[in-house]
Amino acid sequence: MNIPSPVDLHLHSTASDGMLSPEALVAHVAGCGVRLMALTDHDTVAGVQAAAGAARAHGIGFVAGVELSAAWRGRALHVLGLAIDPCAPVLTRALCGQRALREERAERIARKLDAAGAPGREALAGIRGNGSLPTRTHFARALVALGAAADCGKAFDRWLGRGKPGHVASAWPTLEEATAWIVQSGGKAVIAHPMRYPLSAGARRELCAEFAAAGGCGIEVVTGGGGVRDREQAISLAVRCRLEGSVGSDFHDPAVPWNPPGRLAKLPSSIRPVWSGFLPE
Ligand code: AMP
Ligand code: MN
Ligand code: MN
Ligand code: MN
Repeated sequence: MNIPSPVDLHLHSTASDGMLSPEALVAHVAGCGVRLMALTDHDTVAGVQAAAGAARAHGIGFVAGVELSAAWRGRALHVLGLAIDPCAPVLTRALCGQRALREERAERIARKLDAAGAPGREALAGIRGNGSLPTRTHFARALVALGAAADCGKAFDRWLGRGKPGHVASAWPTLEEATAWIVQSGGKAVIAHPMRYPLSAGARRELCAEFAAAGGCGIEVVTGGGGVRDREQAISLAVRCRLEGSVGSDFHDPAVPWNPPGRLAKLPSSIRPVWSGFLPE
Protein backbone atom coordinates (compact mmCIF):
# COMPACT_ATOMS: atom_id res chain seq x y z
CA MET A 1 0.00 0.00 0.00
CA ASN A 2 1.33 3.36 -0.93
CA ILE A 3 -0.25 6.00 1.31
CA PRO A 4 1.55 9.33 1.12
CA SER A 5 2.61 11.10 4.32
CA PRO A 6 2.47 13.29 6.31
CA VAL A 7 -1.09 12.50 7.26
CA ASP A 8 -3.54 14.82 9.08
CA LEU A 9 -7.02 13.42 9.66
CA HIS A 10 -8.56 16.13 11.89
CA LEU A 11 -9.06 19.57 10.34
CA HIS A 12 -11.76 22.27 10.52
CA SER A 13 -13.10 24.75 7.95
CA THR A 14 -15.60 27.62 8.01
CA ALA A 15 -18.37 25.01 7.63
CA SER A 16 -17.92 24.74 11.42
CA ASP A 17 -15.41 26.63 13.59
CA GLY A 18 -12.33 26.74 11.36
CA MET A 19 -11.09 30.12 10.11
CA LEU A 20 -10.38 29.02 6.52
CA SER A 21 -12.90 28.16 3.81
CA PRO A 22 -12.67 24.51 2.67
CA GLU A 23 -10.68 25.56 -0.42
CA ALA A 24 -8.32 27.83 1.54
CA LEU A 25 -7.87 25.12 4.17
CA VAL A 26 -6.79 22.60 1.53
CA ALA A 27 -4.34 25.11 0.04
CA HIS A 28 -2.92 25.79 3.50
CA VAL A 29 -2.70 22.12 4.41
CA ALA A 30 -1.02 21.26 1.09
CA GLY A 31 1.42 24.13 1.65
CA CYS A 32 2.30 22.61 5.03
CA GLY A 33 3.33 19.41 3.22
CA VAL A 34 0.34 17.24 4.16
CA ARG A 35 -0.24 14.48 1.57
CA LEU A 36 -3.37 12.85 3.02
CA MET A 37 -6.01 14.95 4.80
CA ALA A 38 -9.51 14.57 6.24
CA LEU A 39 -11.96 17.44 6.68
CA THR A 40 -13.71 16.81 10.01
CA ASP A 41 -16.04 19.72 10.78
CA HIS A 42 -18.25 19.61 13.89
CA ASP A 43 -21.55 17.90 12.99
CA THR A 44 -21.53 18.95 9.34
CA VAL A 45 -20.25 17.76 5.96
CA ALA A 46 -21.11 21.04 4.24
CA GLY A 47 -17.45 21.67 3.35
CA VAL A 48 -16.60 18.19 2.10
CA GLN A 49 -17.45 18.56 -1.58
CA ALA A 50 -15.52 21.82 -2.01
CA ALA A 51 -12.54 20.45 -0.05
CA ALA A 52 -12.47 17.23 -2.08
CA GLY A 53 -12.33 19.24 -5.31
CA ALA A 54 -9.56 21.46 -3.96
CA ALA A 55 -7.59 18.41 -2.78
CA ARG A 56 -7.80 16.94 -6.29
CA ALA A 57 -6.52 20.21 -7.72
CA HIS A 58 -3.61 20.23 -5.25
CA GLY A 59 -2.84 16.55 -5.86
CA ILE A 60 -3.24 15.46 -2.23
CA GLY A 61 -5.24 12.55 -0.84
CA PHE A 62 -8.61 13.42 0.68
CA VAL A 63 -10.84 11.61 3.15
CA ALA A 64 -14.43 12.77 3.75
CA GLY A 65 -14.96 13.18 7.48
CA VAL A 66 -17.03 14.65 10.28
CA GLU A 67 -16.56 15.21 14.04
CA LEU A 68 -19.77 14.19 15.77
CA SER A 69 -20.74 15.54 19.19
CA ALA A 70 -21.89 12.71 21.44
CA ALA A 71 -22.43 11.98 25.12
CA TRP A 72 -20.98 9.30 27.36
CA ARG A 73 -21.86 9.09 31.06
CA GLY A 74 -23.21 12.63 30.97
CA ARG A 75 -20.14 14.15 29.31
CA ALA A 76 -19.74 15.50 25.81
CA LEU A 77 -17.18 13.76 23.69
CA HIS A 78 -16.23 13.81 20.04
CA VAL A 79 -16.30 10.93 17.59
CA LEU A 80 -14.61 11.32 14.22
CA GLY A 81 -16.19 9.64 11.22
CA LEU A 82 -13.53 9.01 8.57
CA ALA A 83 -14.12 7.88 4.99
CA ILE A 84 -17.86 8.31 5.39
CA ASP A 85 -20.22 8.64 2.45
CA PRO A 86 -21.23 12.28 3.03
CA CYS A 87 -24.49 11.67 1.14
CA ALA A 88 -25.57 8.57 3.09
CA PRO A 89 -29.24 9.09 4.09
CA VAL A 90 -28.56 7.91 7.66
CA LEU A 91 -25.87 10.57 8.02
CA THR A 92 -28.01 13.29 6.44
CA ARG A 93 -30.78 12.52 8.95
CA ALA A 94 -28.33 12.42 11.86
CA LEU A 95 -26.70 15.72 10.91
CA CYS A 96 -30.11 17.33 10.58
CA GLY A 97 -30.73 16.40 14.23
CA GLN A 98 -27.29 17.64 15.28
CA ARG A 99 -27.98 20.95 13.53
CA ALA A 100 -31.26 21.34 15.43
CA LEU A 101 -29.46 20.63 18.73
CA ARG A 102 -26.75 23.18 17.91
CA GLU A 103 -29.22 25.88 16.80
CA GLU A 104 -31.29 25.39 19.93
CA ARG A 105 -28.21 25.34 22.17
CA ALA A 106 -26.94 28.56 20.56
CA GLU A 107 -30.23 30.30 21.47
CA ARG A 108 -29.95 29.08 25.05
CA ILE A 109 -26.30 30.12 25.31
CA ALA A 110 -27.21 33.60 24.02
CA ARG A 111 -30.02 33.95 26.59
CA LYS A 112 -27.82 32.73 29.45
CA LEU A 113 -25.01 35.08 28.47
CA ASP A 114 -27.43 38.01 28.35
CA ALA A 115 -28.76 37.10 31.79
CA ALA A 116 -25.18 37.05 33.10
CA GLY A 117 -24.35 40.47 31.65
CA ALA A 118 -22.47 39.44 28.50
CA PRO A 119 -23.66 40.39 24.97
CA GLY A 120 -25.10 36.98 24.09
CA ARG A 121 -27.82 37.90 21.59
CA GLU A 122 -25.55 40.41 19.92
CA ALA A 123 -22.92 37.70 19.58
CA LEU A 124 -25.47 35.27 18.15
CA ALA A 125 -26.70 37.80 15.58
CA GLY A 126 -23.16 38.02 14.18
CA ILE A 127 -22.74 34.25 14.26
CA ARG A 128 -26.00 33.75 12.33
CA GLY A 129 -24.74 35.97 9.56
CA ASN A 130 -21.78 33.80 8.62
CA GLY A 131 -23.55 30.60 7.53
CA SER A 132 -21.48 28.22 9.69
CA LEU A 133 -23.00 25.66 12.02
CA PRO A 134 -22.77 27.47 15.40
CA THR A 135 -20.25 26.26 17.98
CA ARG A 136 -18.98 27.64 21.25
CA THR A 137 -15.85 28.74 19.36
CA HIS A 138 -18.05 31.19 17.41
CA PHE A 139 -19.40 32.58 20.68
CA ALA A 140 -15.85 32.86 22.05
CA ARG A 141 -14.66 34.83 19.02
CA ALA A 142 -17.76 37.06 19.08
CA LEU A 143 -17.34 37.78 22.80
CA VAL A 144 -13.72 38.78 22.16
CA ALA A 145 -14.80 41.06 19.27
CA LEU A 146 -17.47 42.64 21.51
CA GLY A 147 -14.96 43.28 24.28
CA ALA A 148 -16.38 40.76 26.77
CA ALA A 149 -13.17 38.70 26.87
CA ALA A 150 -9.52 39.34 26.06
CA ASP A 151 -9.05 36.16 24.01
CA CYS A 152 -10.88 32.95 23.16
CA GLY A 153 -9.29 30.98 25.99
CA LYS A 154 -10.50 33.59 28.48
CA ALA A 155 -13.98 33.59 26.89
CA PHE A 156 -14.18 29.85 27.67
CA ASP A 157 -12.73 30.33 31.15
CA ARG A 158 -15.13 33.13 32.05
CA TRP A 159 -18.29 32.47 30.06
CA LEU A 160 -18.54 29.28 28.02
CA GLY A 161 -16.71 26.45 29.80
CA ARG A 162 -18.34 23.81 31.98
CA GLY A 163 -19.85 25.43 35.08
CA LYS A 164 -19.62 28.98 33.64
CA PRO A 165 -22.63 31.32 33.15
CA GLY A 166 -23.09 30.63 29.42
CA HIS A 167 -22.62 26.88 29.60
CA VAL A 168 -25.51 24.78 28.33
CA ALA A 169 -25.55 21.00 28.50
CA SER A 170 -26.87 19.68 25.20
CA ALA A 171 -28.74 16.40 24.70
CA TRP A 172 -26.14 14.95 22.35
CA PRO A 173 -26.73 11.43 21.00
CA THR A 174 -25.10 8.57 22.86
CA LEU A 175 -21.67 7.27 21.91
CA GLU A 176 -23.34 4.12 20.55
CA GLU A 177 -25.73 6.12 18.35
CA ALA A 178 -23.00 8.36 16.94
CA THR A 179 -20.77 5.35 16.26
CA ALA A 180 -23.60 3.50 14.51
CA TRP A 181 -24.33 6.48 12.25
CA ILE A 182 -20.70 6.54 11.13
CA VAL A 183 -20.51 2.79 10.55
CA GLN A 184 -23.84 2.84 8.66
CA SER A 185 -22.45 5.65 6.49
CA GLY A 186 -19.57 3.40 5.45
CA GLY A 187 -17.02 5.17 7.65
CA LYS A 188 -14.60 4.34 10.42
CA ALA A 189 -15.41 5.73 13.87
CA VAL A 190 -12.48 7.16 15.85
CA ILE A 191 -12.52 8.76 19.33
CA ALA A 192 -11.10 12.27 18.93
CA HIS A 193 -8.43 13.54 21.36
CA PRO A 194 -9.07 10.73 23.91
CA MET A 195 -6.83 12.25 26.59
CA ARG A 196 -8.65 15.59 26.59
CA TYR A 197 -11.68 14.30 28.53
CA PRO A 198 -11.43 14.62 32.31
CA LEU A 199 -11.76 10.88 33.04
CA SER A 200 -9.89 8.51 35.32
CA ALA A 201 -7.62 5.96 33.63
CA GLY A 202 -10.16 3.25 34.44
CA ALA A 203 -13.09 5.21 32.97
CA ARG A 204 -11.05 5.91 29.84
CA ARG A 205 -10.45 2.19 29.37
CA GLU A 206 -14.17 1.52 29.85
CA LEU A 207 -14.96 4.22 27.30
CA CYS A 208 -12.65 2.59 24.74
CA ALA A 209 -13.97 -0.90 25.47
CA GLU A 210 -17.61 0.23 25.07
CA PHE A 211 -16.68 2.13 21.93
CA ALA A 212 -15.02 -0.94 20.40
CA ALA A 213 -18.05 -3.06 21.32
CA ALA A 214 -20.31 -0.49 19.60
CA GLY A 215 -18.36 -0.79 16.34
CA GLY A 216 -15.72 1.88 16.98
CA CYS A 217 -12.52 1.31 15.11
CA GLY A 218 -9.80 3.62 16.41
CA ILE A 219 -8.61 6.41 18.67
CA GLU A 220 -6.63 9.51 17.88
CA VAL A 221 -3.23 8.53 19.21
CA VAL A 222 -1.40 11.61 17.99
CA THR A 223 -3.28 14.91 18.45
CA GLY A 224 -2.36 18.56 18.05
CA GLY A 225 -1.23 20.03 21.34
CA GLY A 226 -1.00 16.62 22.99
CA GLY A 227 2.19 15.92 24.97
CA VAL A 228 4.43 12.85 24.97
CA ARG A 229 2.70 11.44 28.05
CA ASP A 230 -0.72 11.78 26.42
CA ARG A 231 0.59 9.94 23.40
CA GLU A 232 2.05 7.11 25.44
CA GLN A 233 -1.21 6.65 27.33
CA ALA A 234 -3.21 6.71 24.09
CA ILE A 235 -0.87 4.10 22.60
CA SER A 236 -1.42 1.75 25.52
CA LEU A 237 -5.19 2.33 25.34
CA ALA A 238 -5.18 1.45 21.63
CA VAL A 239 -3.15 -1.70 22.25
CA ARG A 240 -5.29 -2.81 25.20
CA CYS A 241 -8.62 -2.18 23.43
CA ARG A 242 -7.37 -3.40 20.02
CA LEU A 243 -8.12 -0.09 18.36
CA GLU A 244 -6.41 1.39 15.33
CA GLY A 245 -4.56 4.69 15.65
CA SER A 246 -5.26 8.03 13.99
CA VAL A 247 -3.21 11.19 13.67
CA GLY A 248 -4.76 14.67 13.52
CA SER A 249 -3.87 18.24 14.44
CA ASP A 250 -7.42 19.55 15.16
CA PHE A 251 -6.28 22.62 13.24
CA HIS A 252 -8.73 25.56 13.25
CA ASP A 253 -6.81 28.76 12.67
CA PRO A 254 -3.55 29.74 10.94
CA ALA A 255 -3.13 32.52 13.54
CA VAL A 256 -2.53 29.82 16.16
CA PRO A 257 1.10 29.00 15.38
CA TRP A 258 1.65 26.08 17.78
CA ASN A 259 -0.78 23.75 16.02
CA PRO A 260 -0.01 23.67 12.28
CA PRO A 261 -1.45 20.94 10.03
CA GLY A 262 0.70 17.88 9.48
CA ARG A 263 3.42 18.56 12.04
CA LEU A 264 2.62 15.49 14.09
CA ALA A 265 4.54 12.57 15.56
CA LYS A 266 4.42 9.29 13.69
CA LEU A 267 2.39 6.34 14.93
CA PRO A 268 4.51 3.64 16.53
CA SER A 269 4.75 0.44 14.49
CA SER A 270 2.78 -1.42 17.20
CA ILE A 271 -0.38 0.48 16.20
CA ARG A 272 -2.25 -0.17 12.97
CA PRO A 273 -2.92 3.14 11.18
CA VAL A 274 -6.63 3.83 10.73
CA TRP A 275 -5.83 5.14 7.24
CA SER A 276 -4.14 1.97 5.98
CA GLY A 277 -7.33 1.10 4.10
CA PHE A 278 -7.83 4.57 2.59
CA LEU A 279 -6.59 4.88 -0.93
CA PRO A 280 -5.68 8.37 -2.07
CA GLU A 281 -7.47 9.52 -5.20
P1 AMP B 1 -18.83 23.00 20.87
O1 AMP B 1 -18.68 21.72 20.05
O2 AMP B 1 -19.79 23.95 20.25
O3 AMP B 1 -19.09 22.72 22.31
O4 AMP B 1 -17.43 23.72 20.77
C1 AMP B 1 -16.30 22.97 21.02
C2 AMP B 1 -15.11 23.65 20.39
O5 AMP B 1 -14.72 24.75 21.18
C3 AMP B 1 -13.89 22.75 20.34
O6 AMP B 1 -13.88 21.97 19.18
C4 AMP B 1 -12.76 23.73 20.33
O7 AMP B 1 -12.53 24.14 19.01
C5 AMP B 1 -13.31 24.92 21.11
N1 AMP B 1 -12.83 24.98 22.51
C6 AMP B 1 -13.22 24.23 23.54
N2 AMP B 1 -12.60 24.60 24.69
C7 AMP B 1 -11.80 25.64 24.34
C8 AMP B 1 -10.90 26.48 25.06
N3 AMP B 1 -10.69 26.35 26.38
N4 AMP B 1 -10.24 27.44 24.36
C9 AMP B 1 -10.42 27.61 23.05
N5 AMP B 1 -11.26 26.85 22.32
C10 AMP B 1 -11.94 25.88 22.95
MN1 MN C 1 -13.59 23.05 17.20
MN1 MN D 1 -13.06 17.90 19.27
MN1 MN E 1 -11.94 19.08 16.19
